[in-house]
Amino acid sequence: MFESLSDRLGGVFERLRGRGALNEGDVRAAMREVRIALLEADVALPVVRDFVEKATEQAIGQSVLKSVTPGQQVVKIVNDALIEMLGAEAVDLELDVTPPAVVMMVGLQGSGKTTTTAKIAKRLTEQKRKKVMMASLDVNRPAAQEQLATLGTQAKVATLPIVAGQQPVDIARRALQSARLQGYDVLILDTAGRLHVDQALMDEMKAVADIAKPDEILLVVDALTGQDAVNVAQNFSEQVPLTGVVLTRMDGDARGGAALSMRAVTGKPIKFVGVAEKLDGLETFHPQRVAGRILGMGDVVSLVEKAAETIKVEEAEALAAKMAKGQFDMNDLRNQLGQMRRMGGLGALAGMLPGVKQVKQAMASGAADDKVLIRMEAIISSMTPKERAKPELLNAKRKIRVAKGSGTTVQEVNRLLKMHQEMSTAMKKLKKMGGLKGLGALLG
Ligand code: GDP
Repeated sequence: MFESLSDRLGGVFERLRGRGALNEGDVRAAMREVRIALLEADVALPVVRDFVEKATEQAIGQSVLKSVTPGQQVVKIVNDALIEMLGAEAVDLELDVTPPAVVMMVGLQGSGKTTTTAKIAKRLTEQKRKKVMMASLDVNRPAAQEQLATLGTQAKVATLPIVAGQQPVDIARRALQSARLQGYDVLILDTAGRLHVDQALMDEMKAVADIAKPDEILLVVDALTGQDAVNVAQNFSEQVPLTGVVLTRMDGDARGGAALSMRAVTGKPIKFVGVAEKLDGLETFHPQRVAGRILGMGDVVSLVEKAAETIKVEEAEALAAKMAKGQFDMNDLRNQLGQMRRMGGLGALAGMLPGVKQVKQAMASGAADDKVLIRMEAIISSMTPKERAKPELLNAKRKIRVAKGSGTTVQEVNRLLKMHQEMSTAMKKLKKMGGLKGLGALLG
């Protein structure tokens, strides 16, 4: 899994390595290769398009960090885009409800649904010390219920006794009642599969879901079916409120496309992957680790992360120099606000400045959030370049125009101007007190 993709991407980065500078053409050429590599790995076309577009935009728009090569920076960008595509954090089952928590397993026949049901039951029993019951609602496939009972014996997990001739909705009702009466923590319902997605299957699933009110609906799909797996997932996600996906046969020689497209196409996280036939062949899906395995460049990624931290200090120092010369204009303020927002609050420098302190307090008290910063940025963006360089040009008439243009009020414009004024005054004072050196020391 992922090997050929990993090799292809490795080749792309190899060609970028050691280059002193990358121009837009280099980046675009590299991204074209990334695109081909993803398509060959069977990633869905719209997902590839979106991925390449975002990564290219990032790579071209970004200023090059001093201590890394542009090639290394592109690795980091592709790494981050991969993680975003896969869904950043691992997502666990949400079973903290009044017991029994109900997990409903859905999927096509042969996807590995019954095996996965037993795998999850075993895992919850052994790792989370849950009391688990499984019930098969599959009355179509001969011996499906017996198969689950056998797996239950192997996994040492209880299964609902089989009553011949009972229909799925009735089995679900009986399972719920048993689980409740016998004090089970979790009930896992293995629903019937079909060879193809069809309306009868969907109707049956919906009827069961109405009765069982599941806390989790997990779709099981076979990774080996590649693009088909993605289509199946899309169909299911349009019909039932899935909470997650389990990809089976990740131990096979699938090219990985299903895993990479699943989140983007369904909007649902991959929660587990099946990696063997045996009952402990189930793993939590960790997007970061998977991205790391695909790129195989963890060291480059952390190098770039470190460099990015350093650059923030460098930027702050450059800004401080401008401020000390009394040249801190609205463009600088806008940059600073943008930085604060990206950093989830406060830039290294901004936190110490008077005007910004008010924003900081407002944010800390919950009275304001990102929106305040976005509005401030909008105000500055509605100024003309001349006004940004010389805010004192803003007379009453101009303020009204700016407020209208940014969808804010004149009061808000005034508040922003006051903040800028206070920041400038503070910087001038600081300069008198010892100038840049003093500021440098403050910045640490
Ligand atoms: P169902 O029809 O969806 O319930 O599918 P089953 O659970 O009966 O699985 C079909 C076959 O796939 C069985 O032979 C399983 O052992 C096998 N299987 C299920 N999950 C995995 C997996 O993650 N890896 C491998 N190698 N085989 C699996």
